[in-house]
Amino acid sequence: MATKAAAAKATAKSGPPASNGRPSVRLTKLFIDNEWCDPADGGSFETCNPATGETIATVAAAGPGDVDRAVKAARRALESGPWSTMDAADRGRLMFKLADLVEQNADELASLESLNCGKTIADSKGDLQGVCNTLRYYAGWADKVEGRTIPVRGNFLSYTLRQPVGVIGQIIPWNFPLLMLAWKWGPALACGNAVVMKPAEQTPLTALRMAELAREAGFPAGVINILNGMGETTGAAIVNHPDVDKIAFTGHVDTAKIIQKAAADTLKRTTFELGGKSPNVIFADADMDAAVAGAFHAIYFHGGQCCTAGSRLFVESRIHEEFVERLAEKAKGRVIGDPLDARTEQGPQVSQEQLDKILHYVDLGEKQGARLITGGERVGQKGFFVQPTIFDNVTDEMAIARDEIFGPVVSVLPFKSAEEVIERANRTYYGLAAAVWTKDIDKAHLYARKVRAGTVWVNCYHVVDATTPFGGFKMSGQGRENGEAALEHYTELKTVTVKLGG
Ligand code: ADP
Repeated sequence: MATKAAAAKATAKSGPPASNGRPSVRLTKLFIDNEWCDPADGGSFETCNPATGETIATVAAAGPGDVDRAVKAARRALESGPWSTMDAADRGRLMFKLADLVEQNADELASLESLNCGKTIADSKGDLQGVCNTLRYYAGWADKVEGRTIPVRGNFLSYTLRQPVGVIGQIIPWNFPLLMLAWKWGPALACGNAVVMKPAEQTPLTALRMAELAREAGFPAGVINILNGMGETTGAAIVNHPDVDKIAFTGHVDTAKIIQKAAADTLKRTTFELGGKSPNVIFADADMDAAVAGAFHAIYFHGGQCCTAGSRLFVESRIHEEFVERLAEKAKGRVIGDPLDARTEQGPQVSQEQLDKILHYVDLGEKQGARLITGGERVGQKGFFVQPTIFDNVTDEMAIARDEIFGPVVSVLPFKSAEEVIERANRTYYGLAAAVWTKDIDKAHLYARKVRAGTVWVNCYHVVDATTPFGGFKMSGQGRENGEAALEHYTELKTVTVKLGG
């Protein structure tokens, strides 16, 4: 991180879109209490374009004092601002308005996302649709979060209220910056909480634009605060702040362990959405064309930078050779390049660190005896591009079959029977997602029942919707996002008991 002096450079500049079609970067400051602020005790850092490695902007980073300012603003919003007395339906109305503004500015948001995160423009546009769907889905929930009346013993009336948890610290990753923001804002705002969010240090830009749109939509001061910065400083200051009631985190399992330990000091509520090593199982009776296309999409969507990536590809021995051949054919034809070019199918990995990590695992795969079928190399010398990679004849013990690589590297593991593959699919400490490809309804449901994962896809992959609960078994997380399930993590349940007369 750079010094305070450099923070002076982190300004909210405004200007026309750049003439080369790339989005201009206007917003780089902290967003606290509906104002753009310079850090009081933070600093700044540079954010880069992963397609070139070049700096895009210098962005303000929040220190503990800035975190405290944001938390105080959020608390004020909850206790005395218009948010505290607003009708639930009006909260929903603001969220619908925000979704409309996102839709109106979707092209700009998508290109800024692609510039900073490296995802293809088509994928960014898909994410923007998901953002609107999520905001609208939870906008609809705002006035439907209800308590119950309870037939209590004695002459009493007992009922429950569902009230906001309070100030929510939300810490998100770089792979889906806008979508993860929406997944976190949606249920939090619908339930009347106030948010202090830290985007990932690799992708700080689009959240700032979302904050600007939220203000335009009419969200009162303090309800939404955006603090960029490093995890170990800004993120830790949010986690450690005594007046933050809950942490909602998406990221690495090792970071979640640190956060859970730190949150224990103030007994904060926590929800976690973490990594995965998802088993994607192809039976010999599957529709071959659909399964090859599905396995391809499962691993190579967003260059494998997806916590649900189908990185363990179990293929029934009878079709294994043909399947790998066909998958490799497709992998070799993948168009890699500038994510802002509409023809590009795979952009860069997000950072040098991720590129190095992926190449390290390729090396390990070869050393441990897996067969490299295709890929395994960096593409070009500029930016962080890597070839779609297939390892065959992988065994369950190899590092490439056990660890989350977060890149376009698939491990093919042949199998012989349903019982065998279910046992092997579960041989991991992760449990985020799983898929099965078969025309046999019994096999499909057996697998869906037995596999220990929060999401199971049958004859499809990466189908995630605002309406369906999403989260992990085992070390892939705690709690659920999306759907009605998320609401319980953003409300406290209060029992009110009234002594009745007579
Ligand atoms: P990844 O490996 O995907 O970068 P991380 O878990 O490191 O995953 O990052 C996800 C988010 O967690 C980012 O916003 C990052 O800044 C934040 N983070 C990292 N370390 C900490 C920490 N010690 N406390 C709080 N947040 C952190």
